[in-house]
Amino acid sequence: MEKRFVYADNAATTQVSPRVLEAMLPFYKEEYGNPSSVYSIGRQAKEALDKARKQVADALGAQPGEIYFTGCGSESDNWALKGAAAQMKKKGKNHIITTVFEHHAILHTAQALEKQGFEVTYLPVDEYGLLTAKDVENALREDTGLVSIMYANNEIGTILPIPEIGALCRKKGILFHTDAVQAVGNVKIDVKAQNIDMLSLSAHKLHGPKGVGALYVRKGVVLPNFMDGGAQERGHRAGTENVAGIVGLGVAITDAVGNLEERTARERDLRDQLIHGILSAIPHSRLNGHPTQRLPSNANLSFEGVEGEALLLWLDMSGICASSGSACTSGSLDPSHVLLSIGLPHEIAHGSLRLTLGDTSTQEDVDYILATLPPIVEKLRAMSPVWEEIAAADARA
Ligand code: PLP
Repeated sequence: MEKRFVYADNAATTQVSPRVLEAMLPFYKEEYGNPSSVYSIGRQAKEALDKARKQVADALGAQPGEIYFTGCGSESDNWALKGAAAQMKKKGKNHIITTVFEHHAILHTAQALEKQGFEVTYLPVDEYGLLTAKDVENALREDTGLVSIMYANNEIGTILPIPEIGALCRKKGILFHTDAVQAVGNVKIDVKAQNIDMLSLSAHKLHGPKGVGALYVRKGVVLPNFMDGGAQERGHRAGTENVAGIVGLGVAITDAVGNLEERTARERDLRDQLIHGILSAIPHSRLNGHPTQRLPSNANLSFEGVEGEALLLWLDMSGICASSGSACTSGSLDPSHVLLSIGLPHEIAHGSLRLTLGDTSTQEDVDYILATLPPIVEKLRAMSPVWEEIAAADARA
């Protein structure tokens, strides 16, 4: 098969869509005014912000006044947690509930709050990456002031029971935040129906630009300012707005949500071809995450006797961009906290591969991965002493 370029890492970031780019360009060229200025190109920029705010609100079932633009998903997460914690303190509440397998934007923020004296419960998840509203209920305390649980996991793609957790928190009067950076555009979200008080999202996961995010904050929920300064974002997040980026987010989220069923059905079909094709072609492989309750774009698999990092390099040489759960972040050789949280032993977690699809993914991409991956795994196993032992055990059985 002829070598081709296949981008299968859409959970890391996505290509900006032509429609999004086209909508953004005028705000770098003719309409470059500052939205706070009174003359016409300033007013045009302000109108563009208003339109984008409405687009984001409509996509979530929220009101425009409940949407704050931020610099990224991580900023939205930081604002939600640190802001809620500051409000909790005023009410004498000290306990926060989250999960062990959140993105570091949540985990490291929660750890920073622990250093300030807050107590955090990190709920475990099961072998599929799931927990239930009952698990959350069992962890509630008198002084619990915030529950933050991700909508869908970025590594293994499992979708959490957010409407059930939202209903529980609303009933108990506890603030509920969800990191929906991977879910928006992939899952139907309605913040009102699902009782979500705060929600984080990020444009670059939706075929929008990098460096733009949003935080939904339900009307009535009070958060301290994220950044002091000018009157932007109704005085809560100062700094001249990234007008072009925000316009890009508005178009990207409208396109993603407007076409959700069709887009996700197509992705689900390609994803299932990948999962079934890989599992049937490669012995000693397994799917990570829930078999059905998972993002339509996500296939996460482990191969015994293979190093994830080596696999990525070989795939890259064949033109395939993917990611692995064993990245040696901060010099540590530990596999990802997500793979360990679902109970994978270190050696299996090390041999995992995340393939994530997007609007740009094609049938040809899937065919190419299915033709390219099995021989690479075979080559790597032929060099692996660990695989020698597995193969010998197989032969004895
Ligand atoms: N939360 C989740 C679940 C993510 O997957 C990511 C990015 O990978 C983030 C937060 C951070 O988003 P951003 O890159 O916009 O800061």
